[in-house]
Order: sequence, then structure tokens, then C-alpha cells
Amino acid sequence: MTEKLSSQIEKYLPPPVLALIKIAGKDADALGQDLYIVGGVVRDLFLDRANFDFDLVVEGDAIGLAQKLAKDSQAKLTVHPRFGTAKLNYPGFSLDLATARSETYSKPGALPTVQPGSLKDDLIRRDFSINAMAMHLNPKHFGELIDLYNGKDDLKHRLIRVLHPKSFIDDATRILRAIRYEQRLCFKLEAETEKLLRSNVAMLDTISSDRIRHELELILEEDEPERAIRRADELGVLKRLHPSLKGNGWLSKIFIKARQAAMRTSLSTLYLCLLIYNLTEKENEEFISRLNFPKNSSQAMRQTLQLKAQVHNLANPKLKPSDIHQLLRGYSTSAIQTNSLATESSTVNQHLQLYLTKSRYLKPLLKGDDLKKIGVPAGPKVGEVLDMLHRARLNGEVRTQKEEESLVHSWLQKQSS
Ligand code: ATP
Ligand code: MG
Repeated sequence: MTEKLSSQIEKYLPPPVLALIKIAGKDADALGQDLYIVGGVVRDLFLDRANFDFDLVVEGDAIGLAQKLAKDSQAKLTVHPRFGTAKLNYPGFSLDLATARSETYSKPGALPTVQPGSLKDDLIRRDFSINAMAMHLNPKHFGELIDLYNGKDDLKHRLIRVLHPKSFIDDATRILRAIRYEQRLCFKLEAETEKLLRSNVAMLDTISSDRIRHELELILEEDEPERAIRRADELGVLKRLHPSLKGNGWLSKIFIKARQAAMRTSLSTLYLCLLIYNLTEKENEEFISRLNFPKNSSQAMRQTLQLKAQVHNLANPKLKPSDIHQLLRGYSTSAIQTNSLATESSTVNQHLQLYLTKSRYLKPLLKGDDLKKIGVPAGPKVGEVLDMLHRARLNGEVRTQKEEESLVHSWLQKQSS
């Protein structure tokens, strides 16, 4: 008998989303097409975890249906005719609509060749049984579960299972995805899936830089990414991204510390810098080019190692704030925070924190124009005096504008004597 999820879905979905998918089901029906909600949201409905990715699949024409639905529900519509997909934007959430499709892989790791297909075709191309469930949305069938690969059973037994033995060969990004879901949900790789994964780790080499990087970024956006990194190490996956990467206990501890410090830079950049902290500069360059990191990440990663090589200069407890400032200016916040988390010297850490939380915000009150009015000659001297004021402020030698002015006056006196 078909299982009906109507009452669960009514409790699970926010009312505006529920109302919309009901309208969508009616619209599909009127067009003589079958519409389903699929993937992560069905999985998370059973797990009672929030998910705001609403993926709809229609056996028919997603764009035509999206146009009708956009009219009936006043949505902002974006269509991608090449992919047969559309996105409907509503205040606070969006719906993705795709035409059911079948996929064939011409060679491992390549993007698949896609044709319109049935829901069944669309489900078998998916990564894991728990992500391959669908729920019917047409009014007469509303809430009916389609579970061709026993995803619900695997949810119950907390298992990540591929749909066929060639899955990791077709698309090795699934290796990283399997680990991510396993660790996010505290599941286990099903025994055969784990065997297949272990024997296909080398297939990661068939995946483009950008796709691998994207999967790593998704891992680093998890609530506790250290779990997946550690598991990736254990399964021989991490060293496939770079042979020197380690997901050991040190990394776990320091990721947790990074989270607790609730720092203001992007936590995922910080994780990335911590991940490469024990690489050499050469290894870091190899990793950057293998994953083709964009400029902002690669800069943070490089600076992390450059600063690591310099940071011993901050171990002297007698350093003045202006010396610390001199050494640290020019480094990105992520590079400094990474070193602050990773250093074993409490003096180094204090100095990094002093810079991050205080010194880097301090500026002299007087500006170049003020200095000229007081009598500093225009030209390079102005910069010199501003630097002097900056140092004095950093070191707490001046506090008020008056004190800055009298420092300038005594500088002028020295100049004329
Ligand atoms: P998450 O909570 O991580 O967003 P999700 O299930 O919504 O989980 P998405 O990455 O948003 O995952 O992808 C949506 C769906 O597309 C998945 O549930 C899965 O069925 C399918 N999918 C995504 N990537 C792949 C892949 N590489 N191979 C096969 N199916 C995939
Ligand atoms: Mg998603």
C-alpha cells in the first residue's frame, strides 16, 4: 500500500510553502503532468530536521509549469531553458522546479548527458537512497511516498547507501557527499557502500577542481566539519585531495576552539586555513592549484603560512603595541586568527589578540591637514609625523587631541633646534 505523508508534511512545512506546493500540484494536474517534491526535504521531513531547499520535479515541462505557477502565485520567476529548470522566488524562500530527467555518464567524472525522463529515471540518477525519495503533489495523490530504493528503511537503520555499484565511478563527488551526510546525521556507510567507496577513492582524480572544491566547501559549512574531515582521513579520501592533509585529533580540537571563539571572519575560511596550517608553502600551493581556490581563499591560506613563519617574532613579552602592529599590518584577519588559534605560545597569542581586538582600530586623531595648520611642512614630513602619532597612540602615550598636538609641537621644536 502507498504510504501517505499528508499529515506529516502539513506539520513539517511552513504554511506558505505548504499552500504553494498544493497550488503547484493543482497547476500540474491541470496541465496533465505529475509533480513531486524530492530529495533532501523528504529525507529531512522523516528526520524532523529543518530544510529550506524545496526541490520539485515534474514529469513533463518544468518551465511551462513554473510559468503557470508564477502567474497563479505572484512569484518572481527565473528560467534556465538549457537545463529545463526554473526557480520561483517568494519572500523568505524559493522553489526549484526541474523536468524529470535521465542521465548517462560518457566517462567517469564527466558531467552527465541529460534527457527528459520519468520520475523513476530521475530518482535512479541520485546519490543515496535517503536522498532518492519523492512525494506526489497532484491533488488525488497528495502526500504519497515514492520510495523505490528503500530510503525510508535506510533512514530507520541510519545508513548511507548508493543506488548502484557504479555510483562512485560515475560521479566521485559522491564520495565526499557520502561522508558529509554520514557525519552530519551520525549515520554509517552501509557495508557494501563503504567497500565501494574505499575501492573507488582514486576516482576523485577524475573530478574537476571546481567540483571538488565545492564539495569541500559544503563540508566546511557543516555545523561540525571536523567530523567529516576526520572520517575522510580515515577512509583515505583526504590524502587524495593532497597527500599531506591530516584530519587528526589536533584538527578536531582546533576546529571546535575556532567555533567557540565565535570570531567575526567567515568560519569556513578559518577552517580552511586551519586545514592547511601544517602544510609547507609548496604543499599549500599544490593544494590551491588542485582545487583552484579563488583569490580570497588562496590569499588567506598563503598568508596563514607566511605569518606562521614570522610569528616567533611576537614571542617577546616586552614588545610594544606599535612593534606588533608593524609586524601584523597587511595580514588578513583569517590568517591572524588562524595563527592565534594554532600557536602554542601564550605571549604570541596575546599579541595577536591585542592587534585583532584593539590596535588595528586605533588611528591618530589629527589628520594631515591639522598637522599643516600646526606648522608641519607639506611633503614627506607629514607622513612621518602621522606615523609617530600612530605609534604613540598604539603605545598609549597619547590619549587626547591635546596630547597629540603637544607631541607635534615638541617634534617641531626638535626640528628647529
Ligand atoms: P543538503 O541538506 O546537503 O542541501 P540536499 O539533499 O538538499 O541536502 P543538494 O546538494 O541540495 O542536497 O541536492 C539536492 C538533491 O540532488 C539531493 O538530495 C540528491 O538527490 C541530488 N544530488 C545532488 N548532488 C548529487 C550528485 N552528485 N549525484 C547524484 N545526486 C545528487
Ligand atoms: Mg539542498
